[in-house]
Amino acid sequence: MSKSMFLQCVICGRQYGLSEVTYTCPDCGEAGTLDILYDYAALRASVDRDAIGHSSLMNVWRYKALLPIADESPVPSLSVGWTPLYNAPRVAESLGLRQVWLKDDGRNPTASYKDRASVVVVTRAMELGIRTVSAASTGNAAAALAGVMASVPHMQTIIFVPATAPEAKIAQLLVYGAQVILIEDSYDVAFDLCMQISLEANWYCRNTGVNPFTTEGKKSASLEIAEQLGWRVPDVVVVSVGDGSIISGLYKGFWDLYQLGWTDRMPRIIGVQAEGSSALVQAWRLGIAGQDMQPAPAETIADSISAGLPRDRVKALRAVRQTNGAYVAVSDEQILAAIPQLARLSGVFAEPASAAAFAGAQIAVESGYIHSEERVLLMLTGNGLKDIKRAQQAVSGGLRVPPDLAIIRQALLNKIETP
Ligand SMILES: [Zn+2]
Repeated sequence: MSKSMFLQCVICGRQYGLSEVTYTCPDCGEAGTLDILYDYAALRASVDRDAIGHSSLMNVWRYKALLPIADESPVPSLSVGWTPLYNAPRVAESLGLRQVWLKDDGRNPTASYKDRASVVVVTRAMELGIRTVSAASTGNAAAALAGVMASVPHMQTIIFVPATAPEAKIAQLLVYGAQVILIEDSYDVAFDLCMQISLEANWYCRNTGVNPFTTEGKKSASLEIAEQLGWRVPDVVVVSVGDGSIISGLYKGFWDLYQLGWTDRMPRIIGVQAEGSSALVQAWRLGIAGQDMQPAPAETIADSISAGLPRDRVKALRAVRQTNGAYVAVSDEQILAAIPQLARLSGVFAEPASAAAFAGAQIAVESGYIHSEERVLLMLTGNGLKDIKRAQQAVSGGLRVPPDLAIIRQALLNKIETP
């Protein structure tokens, strides 16, 4: 390894070498997720921020120097990251805010933010010489793993997914050639089974949260946001939260940049959960530590953020508490309504979990967690085509007519609004 790195437990602070521990802290158990930390002084001396700006790599590897991957390591061919960041004045107006940006991660190769974690985890598996990588997922992380793995020769993907996952997401896994195990139970049960079998079989497990390389992959969005805004950070970043791994990755990316002195502060981070899967909202309100949280039932139409006991709960609470942010909950009805609202104001079609960020921003503004003069970024995590059934529930219309010009003209006169 060309850079100095170590693992540090988020609960007890104990440090480990990168090859000493693979998943979570042996002392703290499953809640003791690990940060990958660097020698920031050495990085500051060796990596030039402006040189990154001239990189021809339009993907996460433009930041390879800041990722836990050896400089010389080969990487998967699928191009992940460097997604568009849009100025969205009509979204800002609808929220009563001065400035809103959208970061559209539905534009990743398998259409979700999870590609960022997968591409780094698969690169790590290749460094370790492991050819089988497994994951449990509500859908997107699995698709991301299956897609990235398919871009590398001689790799085998094994996916544990709840049998209730949206059909499009399961089809995507099968198309990429993954071995798919449909568990007739919840995501949480699938997760534990996957972990157990992976340990027995010596597969590399991409499970979100417990594998510290997932957080590092997910931090790449923050590096892009800062660079795309001229190495400045928004005042507030709003993101939907299930297992808490994306919000943790965003936090870590902004934190790394701040340690490097490349940005002048941390943004406030606001996490959005579905009311039916709001364990972190409750813990944040009640001041409960992540390691003391208990499993609770989870039920929401936004399958990507349904998690009874968020796996990355300690990091997810840290992201909000350390940045003076907030957690808010939105109803399934608000999530469904947000899909066409956001699409019509911006042209970005988001899946339910992704549109939840827009619904959550509305609540956060109403609740006083976001002030009108603040510059806000909505992190959009998945493409709307991932879950067409839910989108169909949110909209109606379409004129069914016979192929007759007179009838069509009349129907249009009655229906079409003047812009
Ligand atoms: Zn520990």
